[in-house]
Amino acid sequence: MKPVAFDHTVPNTLDAAIDVLTADGEARLLGGGQSLGPMLNLRLARPDRLVDIGRLDELRSATATAKHVEIGAGVTHAEIEDGAVPDPIPGMLSYVASGIAYRAVRNRGTLGGSLCHADPAADWISAMTALDARVVTAATGGGREIDMISFMPGAYRTVLSPGEAVRAIRVPRYSEEAVWGYHKTCRKVGEFATAIAVFVADPAGAYCRVVFGAATGAPLVSPTLARSIAETGCVPDLVTIERELATLDPALPDIKARQLAVALRRAVAGAIE
Ligand SMILES: Cc1cc2nc3c(=O)[nH]c(=O)nc-3n(C[C@H](O)[C@H](O)[C@H](O)COP(=O)(O)OP(=O)(O)OC[C@H]3O[C@@H](n4cnc5c(N)ncnc54)[C@H](O)[C@@H]3O)c2cc1C
Repeated sequence: MKPVAFDHTVPNTLDAAIDVLTADGEARLLGGGQSLGPMLNLRLARPDRLVDIGRLDELRSATATAKHVEIGAGVTHAEIEDGAVPDPIPGMLSYVASGIAYRAVRNRGTLGGSLCHADPAADWISAMTALDARVVTAATGGGREIDMISFMPGAYRTVLSPGEAVRAIRVPRYSEEAVWGYHKTCRKVGEFATAIAVFVADPAGAYCRVVFGAATGAPLVSPTLARSIAETGCVPDLVTIERELATLDPALPDIKARQLAVALRRAVAGAIE
């Protein structure tokens, strides 16, 4: 199948892109095209115009301060994999990036595009939620910051308003004592996940978070499991984790709960190692 006919606009700045989006309610932003491209071909998306922000330099840089790392929405998975951006927690971002699809997809696909596509099985949605990242947006009249827990209310949905674009993702910097574990269950290396579990803990900031991805919608965050692991230094057994998952999402199928529980035990084991 081929896409419906559309116009292609290549703005010079993000502000110019937002002007086009605001003037044409049927226009869609184009990042790396790795999710939108297939949707166009299947005619699941039928925009009358693509606003191509994939080449905007202002979205392709990363900066670091003492408190956080801010990564431009247009930075690709491959750039993160290659360590081209400062790491807010040693090794985690490049590890997550390296498990996304295969290199050709990673060369084009962007961090911002991945978050905005909001696929429940996507890697960055879960990883950035575990890292307590904030999405920095741009819009006519000014942008805002959105914390990752609120950013994705459900599958393929974000809280972005029409005419609002993601400019960057701001990730807190963690201390040298911080540990992380990321486990993605998939049938073949680089495939979309059937289960994701992420564990991040930083004793210096009394921070501990447990996130499950590839569930039924938005990532599931469990303060109860995080507290238990932080207090005991041990990960609960599978049945305890499954019971907590049933509380977080009563609609979760038993098989999915078991996959997520196993993923968490592996993620925490990876963090402790
Ligand atoms: C074969 C294959 C395998 C894949 N496997 C994985 C995988 O294992 N894990 C994984 O996480 N992902 C996977 N992906 C998805 C990939 O990571 C995509 O790169 C990503 O989901 C979308 O990024 P993009 O830059 O290509 O966005 P696009 O496809 O260009 O856009 C996606 C959506 O985001 C919007 N958008 C883009 N940029 C912005 C912005 N700055 N502000 C607001 N809205 C914006 C677009 O309008 C569109 O709605 C796979 C893709 C393919 C083709």
